[in-house]
Amino acid sequence: MLQQQLVPSPISATVDFAAEGVHHGFLRLPYSRDDAAWGSVMTPITVIKNGDGPTAVLTGANHGDEYEGPIALFDLAARLSADEVTGRVIIIPAMNYPAFQAATRTSPIDRGNLNRAFPGRPDGTVTQKIADYFQRVLLPMADYVLDFHSGGKTLDFLPFCAAHIVPDKMQEARSFELVRAFGAPYSVKMLEIDAVGMYDTAAEEMGKIFVTTELGGGGTASACTAEIAIRGARNFLIAAGIMAGEVTVHPTEWLDMPDDDCFTFAEDGGLIQFLADLGDQITKGQPIARIFPVARTGLAPITLPARRGGLFTARHFPGLVKPGDCVAVIADKVEA
Ligand code: ZN
Repeated sequence: MLQQQLVPSPISATVDFAAEGVHHGFLRLPYSRDDAAWGSVMTPITVIKNGDGPTAVLTGANHGDEYEGPIALFDLAARLSADEVTGRVIIIPAMNYPAFQAATRTSPIDRGNLNRAFPGRPDGTVTQKIADYFQRVLLPMADYVLDFHSGGKTLDFLPFCAAHIVPDKMQEARSFELVRAFGAPYSVKMLEIDAVGMYDTAAEEMGKIFVTTELGGGGTASACTAEIAIRGARNFLIAAGIMAGEVTVHPTEWLDMPDDDCFTFAEDGGLIQFLADLGDQITKGQPIARIFPVARTGLAPITLPARRGGLFTARHFPGLVKPGDCVAVIADKVEA
């Protein structure tokens, strides 16, 4: 472990993180390949600094097929001026840039899922090297971290902003203040299926104020969800004390994901027919979808009952499912 930490990151920034003003550049990662022997992965980055104050690191496309984050952050990077900032804003609109260019969740180079690759390795695959750079260079600079997600090509979500339950209750309370300020239609106390290796977990273990989102899905962004992301990024920076202005307050419904019964998984593959839509109130045991076997005609569909009651918050997006796919997420409406 000690030996690994002595290996410097192969990524170099073309911007100076300590320089005042607005600087657009790249995180350059050497990547030798068939079409460029001495090529590089060039991940766009913007650093905006004005005097002393907290640092926010804002990221999108941690998964390459999720678009609200990149829209909000390319927009912010093009518009935010240094005199609107006290402190520093580090913007990386497409964190897993190879995946973003390929419009895939994972990297086309090594199939790496960046959000399962933390803490990463400086001597690992391309995705592991990106994770290592965030772990050892960018996260330590941050006070506030906002990482945008959406459903990608295979999930669809009610638009929500979220934070996690963490051991440090001060850190947790501040994170939820930022969730409220973000102003998504829904705000969630989020439970993860699989928290090991996540950027979220890496940031939270360093004591950072960490906020994330799920703002839609299906491998695109709607006018509505893009607007939520743009507004949310601005509200986040204002509430963090970094950007001047007033938080534009929007009503939000609070949701809790208290246990594993929130998730319904398919045990059969086939053609899925949903019997309810996102935003519907569901009762425990209510049939939420049925799956037709498609190898032959004449077979009855398999009905999937909801494992708990609550609000239908997320669903499998494509029309065909495989065994083990998450079909539905049902969350509890709670008081703020
Ligand atoms: Zn994601």
